[in-house]
Amino acid sequence: MIKAIKGTSDILPEEIVNWNYLTKIVQDQMKYFNYKEIRTPIFEHTALFSRGIGESTDIVSKEMYSFTDRSENNLTLKPEMTASVVRSFIEHSLGKQSGLNKLFYISPMFRQERPQAGRFRQFHQFGIEAIGSHNPALDAEVIQVAYEIITNLGIKDISVTINSLGIPEERAEFSNALKEFVADKKNQLSEDSQRRLDTNVLRILDSKNKTDQEIIKDAPSILDFLGSESLEHFESVKELLTAAKIPFNIEPKLVRGLDYYTHTTFEIISSKVGSQSALCGGGRYNLLIEQLGGSSTPAVGFAAGIERILLACKAEESYTLEEEKIDIYIVRLNKELESKAFEFASFFRKNNLKAEIDYSARSVKAQMREANKYHARFVLFVGGDEYENSQVQLKNMENGEQKLFNISELNKIIEIV
Ligand code: AMP
Repeated sequence: MIKAIKGTSDILPEEIVNWNYLTKIVQDQMKYFNYKEIRTPIFEHTALFSRGIGESTDIVSKEMYSFTDRSENNLTLKPEMTASVVRSFIEHSLGKQSGLNKLFYISPMFRQERPQAGRFRQFHQFGIEAIGSHNPALDAEVIQVAYEIITNLGIKDISVTINSLGIPEERAEFSNALKEFVADKKNQLSEDSQRRLDTNVLRILDSKNKTDQEIIKDAPSILDFLGSESLEHFESVKELLTAAKIPFNIEPKLVRGLDYYTHTTFEIISSKVGSQSALCGGGRYNLLIEQLGGSSTPAVGFAAGIERILLACKAEESYTLEEEKIDIYIVRLNKELESKAFEFASFFRKNNLKAEIDYSARSVKAQMREANKYHARFVLFVGGDEYENSQVQLKNMENGEQKLFNISELNKIIEIV
C-alpha cells in the first residue's frame, strides 16, 4: 500500500473543524488590524530563496525541496513565505500603489527536516508582512497580531520574547566580539557551531547543544552594541507592547535562523508542546527588499506554525467546539419514496438548510440512528397514511414535539427549522 510521505499528514474531517476554527480567528484578527490576504505559488525559482533567506541558513543549505523541471528550471517548494511575498511586492510594484502594504497569508510550507512531534516536512503557516514603514508601532503591531490570535484561541501558557539585532554595522561589530569571545573555546564547540563561526556566527547563540549553551552563557550581548537610533527603536517597541498589555521578556540571544532580520526579532513560545516550542517567530527585515532587487523599503512580519498552535490548543484544552449539527434529516418510510426524499432534501438545501437523506435503502430504525449520529435538530418523516393524505410529519429532536404539514407547505418547515 502506498502511504503518505514521511513528515506529511492528511487532515481528516474530525480535525478540519479545528483548522477552520483557527482560520476564522486568523481572518477575524486580520480584518480588525486591516491586513489583506495574499496568495503566491507553491513553487518559486530556487534563487529567490537562496538569495532571500541566505545560503548559510539551515533552510537553504539543507532543508529545501528543490528540483529541476523538464525545461531545466531550478525550482523549490516554498520553505517560508517572506521571500515569496517580497518577490510579489516587487513584481507588482505594490509599493507604488500604496505607501504601506499590510499583507497576510495562510499557506503550506515544505522543509526536509527530521520529522518529530511539532516538526513536519509539509506544514502550514499563517503570517503577516507589513511593508513600507520604519515606525516601531508596526513592530509592536505585528507582535500584537500574533499575540491576539494565539490568546483568542484560548492558549494561555505562552511567553513572548523579544530582542533587537540593530543595523548591519552594529551586527558586524557584535559578530566580531562574539568570534573573539569563543575563539579560545572553538574546539569545544559543536560541529555545527564551529561551522557557523565562519558562515553565520550569530547562529551559535541559538544552538540547542548543551556544551555550546554553557560556552556562550556569558557571551557579549548584542544590546550593548546598538547605537542610539537602534536603541530608541527598541525602546519604543517595548513601550508600545507595554501599552498594549502584552507581557514580554528580553532575550539578547534571540537571533532567529534567518539572515534577513534587522532591529526587532521576536518569538512566542508555548511550554506545553514539547521541544518544538516556538509557536511563531518574526521580526523586522529592512534590507531584504533591496536585496531581492526592489528599492530600499523597510518591513516587518511574522510566521506562525498552525500544527504547533493546534497542538498547544489540545494540550491546554483551550477551547471546545460545539458538535456540528445538521438541520433536518429526511426519513422515508418505504423505498418507493426515495426520490421524494431526494426532492425534499434538494428543496431544503436550496433554502440554506443542512439536510441529509439515506442513500443505502436502510430501515427506518437505521435511518433514525443516522439522524442521531448527525445530531439532526429535526427529522421529517415521509410515508405511511400521512403521505397518502399529502402530509409529512416534522419531529423536533430537541423536545420531541411533532407536527403535520401539507407537502405543498414545505416553506413553513423552513421557517421553523
Ligand atoms: P520559521 O519560518 O522557521 O521562523 O518558523 C515559524 C514558525 O513556523 C515556527 O515558530 C513554527 O511554529 C513553524 N514551523 C517551522 N518549521 C516547522 C516544521 N518543520 N514543522 C512544523 N512547524 C514548523
